Amino acid sequence: MPSTKAPVALSSVKITFLGTASAQPSSTRNHSCLALHLDGDVWLFDCGEATQHRIQRSNVKMGRIQKIFITHTHGDHIFGVLPLLASRLNGAGGTTGGADDPRLRSESDEESQPIEIYGPLGTRAYIRNGLTYTYTILGSPYVVHELRFPTDPPGDYTSLPRHAAELPTGRDIRQVDGIWSDIFTNDFITVSAAPILHSVPCVGYVVTERPVPGKMDPKQYIPAIKRTKTPMSVMSRLQQGESIELSDGTVLHGPPRRPGRKIVILGDTYDPSPISTLAAGADLLIHEATNAHLPGIDPNTKDDDTYETVETRSKSRGHSTPQMAGAFAKRIGAKRLVLNHFSPRYAGDDDVNEETARIMNAIGSLAAEDYGGSVICARDLMSIDIELSK
Ligand SMILES: [Zn+2]
Ligand SMILES: [Zn+2]
Repeated sequence: MPSTKAPVALSSVKITFLGTASAQPSSTRNHSCLALHLDGDVWLFDCGEATQHRIQRSNVKMGRIQKIFITHTHGDHIFGVLPLLASRLNGAGGTTGGADDPRLRSESDEESQPIEIYGPLGTRAYIRNGLTYTYTILGSPYVVHELRFPTDPPGDYTSLPRHAAELPTGRDIRQVDGIWSDIFTNDFITVSAAPILHSVPCVGYVVTERPVPGKMDPKQYIPAIKRTKTPMSVMSRLQQGESIELSDGTVLHGPPRRPGRKIVILGDTYDPSPISTLAAGADLLIHEATNAHLPGIDPNTKDDDTYETVETRSKSRGHSTPQMAGAFAKRIGAKRLVLNHFSPRYAGDDDVNEETARIMNAIGSLAAEDYGGSVICARDLMSIDIELSK
């Protein structure tokens, strides 16, 4: 008999943008970070400076953060990890005179799940060095898994020994066929990653929900179940897609499972081609759009700029224009496109400021022309629900 423990769907999948700035933060945009809510759990993607401050103003509960995925080790994507770990893991700075520190006794290491951090080479060394040199003592453990490029040197990229809270189970994950497949899996979700091109080693993540139960019409099953006096509890097995043989020999087939949600979260990039196969058919693509050419709309447009000069400059710094993001979304058949990581010249108060709204609408329209669908420009603290496709 098939297993009755097939996973059911997540009831809620949502993203909250905690930071949507590139380069410098502003009063309206913080450095890169977004929170993926999977029912009650929260996974962060990138963790720029002052992410904690944004969390305090958001619907993200610090205690629910389980994992942090870093796209690359540029400071605007990782400077917030150390303070976040210190807060999340009950960090302390030590005591004087050899006194015990009661702050570190709230959870025992055996009970607490480690915070899992994924990122390219340097993520582990950065965190280990930062915690060590700031004398940070953590009350719970963490572990760092690194996504290693073929050209990366072996080892931890630091001569410091492991921090007391760093578990030795951190993996160095090698690419197979150019991607990092299934770096994390559970009953509901798989996570894979692939390189994307930027000025430094950078990865994009693909979060895929496992197939979910199909849509069920109870009327199709109830007469036969009643006729054979079969307990109604078989309905839950049918919902899981199982086939059930009734006492009179009738076989009922549950609806086939349907694809779960697929979310593609890219870091900084001027060309994400290496992730395109893995990202194909995404329900949601999050792509950076750092620089745009908006003559007549953005008053700071330079007279001698053209779209071509802006695109060339953007690419030379490892970044994209809205048109490039739109073209990639079209190429992979993404069902929705959200832009983030905007230049400091584009404020993030388009919900209350007409001029900003004009500029952000124009950026979205430029991407939409190449994409062929509607585009959302992310704003700090904006949340987006991700539904199952029909
Ligand atoms: Zn960046
Ligand atoms: Zn960068």
